[in-house]
Amino acid sequence: TGIPDKVLHIDDVHKSFAGLHALSDVDLDVRQGETHAIIGPNGAGKSTLLNVCVGRLKPDRGAVIFDGDTLTGKAPHEINQLGVARVFQTPEVFLELTVLENVMVPALSKRDGHFKLNPFAAFGAEKAIREEAIEIIHNVGLHAQLNDVASSMSRGDKRRLELAMCLIQHPKLLLLDEPTAGMARADTNATIDLLKKIKEGGMTKVIIEHDMHVVFSLADRISVLAGGRIIAQGTPEQIKNDPRVKEAYLGE
Ligand code: ADP
Ligand code: MG
Repeated sequence: TGIPDKVLHIDDVHKSFAGLHALSDVDLDVRQGETHAIIGPNGAGKSTLLNVCVGRLKPDRGAVIFDGDTLTGKAPHEINQLGVARVFQTPEVFLELTVLENVMVPALSKRDGHFKLNPFAAFGAEKAIREEAIEIIHNVGLHAQLNDVASSMSRGDKRRLELAMCLIQHPKLLLLDEPTAGMARADTNATIDLLKKIKEGGMTKVIIEHDMHVVFSLADRISVLAGGRIIAQGTPEQIKNDPRVKEAYLGE
């Protein structure tokens, strides 16, 4: 409390795996509209924290509150319905579907929720969904692969596809776990540009990232996790000059 415009509040979260403290005493506030980067060495607990936020893991203690709703205890699809979308470290796309079909799926399932009782209204909505999907696919740079099956794509392209599947949901909060991992530099830069563009739309983003070029290009604020604890928090300028951060990274 105290920060009026915070949209995501992680409150005293703990998570252990068979005695290993993956997360301890984690408190973190994300402000409305900001891009908040979570950085830290391998094994620091970054993905665990993201999985707690999206309902894939239950914390042993503590809570995650988004936009006034307690997410802790809710199922992943319920959290998604509240406006939270995520890109996982290992991309999860429908391998047997094409790029276009993959991007249409989240929007179609949302539509089917709305139009369950009126299939004729749903019919008209499909064309609009297809058009928006094509536009988003263009924006993430996958237009040349529109009709390719996802199983044939590289890991970096699958991650861009997963991002497109998030964007068509128009989430309030987008969580990204290493969105540029496995991408060539040109694709990384294109992803940075894309994420900057989304930022102009006012969406709040939490980005876990290893690549400091990406972090410093995008982040408004940075939290540093090491050994399951937040060891530093601040603006990119503050983090760059923080001796604890240098130490945590040099020890990697
Ligand atoms: P990061 O994403 O920062 O690299 P993770 O959150 O993936 O770190 O992992 C944090 C720690 O928790 C690591 O030591 C990892 O081995 C452990 N861990 C993560 N998930 C599990 C799991 N499902 N079962 C057991 N240990 C896990
Ligand atoms: Mg990870």
